[in-house]
Amino acid sequence: MLSMSQQQFENFTASSLYCEKCKAAMPVRERLLLVLPDREVFDYLCTGCGSSVGQREVTAGDRLTA
Ligand SMILES: [Zn+2]
Repeated sequence: MLSMSQQQFENFTASSLYCEKCKAAMPVRERLLLVLPDREVFDYLCTGCGSSVGQREVTAGDRLTA
């Protein structure tokens, strides 16, 4: 896991996540789940089985501190 580069981390949103159902890192589809006044919540769906494998929140504050 330590060999994972930061570049891969930056590609997180468009690459793959570990799916417990498929028991493998699967390509994911990003879906806008929720829009709030101060943030947006994205849901990541496994393209193999369609289950949710993760979520991400994007806020204006995160963008400033990132
Ligand atoms: Zn899956």
